[in-house]
Amino acid sequence: MQMIRNFFKTFLLYELVKGMALTGRYFFARKITVQFPEEKTPQSYRFRGLHALRRYANGEERCIGCKLCEAVCPALAIKIEVAEREDGTRRTTLYDIDMVKCIFCGFCEESCPVDAIVETRVFEYHGEKRGDLYYTKPMLMAMGDKHEKQIAEDRAADAKYR
Ligand code: SF4
Ligand code: SF4
Repeated sequence: MQMIRNFFKTFLLYELVKGMALTGRYFFARKITVQFPEEKTPQSYRFRGLHALRRYANGEERCIGCKLCEAVCPALAIKIEVAEREDGTRRTTLYDIDMVKCIFCGFCEESCPVDAIVETRVFEYHGEKRGDLYYTKPMLMAMGDKHEKQIAEDRAADAKYR
């Protein structure tokens, strides 16, 4: 019985017709291809892009050098060194993230008690050699300064659902 069925399927080009029907269905369906970079898809406020270090409104950096983010990072991408300032507070003297290692899991921002390290919506970046994707503290602070408005809006939107 199976042999007869296979014979007719082959004879009537059943598989070919089935494939063409599928092609035809998608040919007339609404197109979902986005013409990047002219067109962009919507982003979530929880989008996990390039990292940034934030400041408080008075300009003071948020990070207190607790190293929780460094400890939680599964990719060992974060490197921190800490020293005590003259006013007795702890601040990082070195805060590097190797984006080549980073898997953008978001654990660092989840672990941070002061919302210092965050992931921005920035995903359009590249490096032409390994060192280009090694982000140092000044680079991360500059990212924070540049995108603070969007970061603050996203954190506020996120806070509503926590
Ligand atoms: S997003 Fe994940 S992998 Fe990347 S630095 Fe943060 S904790 Fe590490
Ligand atoms: S970024 Fe946050 S978690 Fe990481 S060392 Fe600074 S305060 Fe601690």
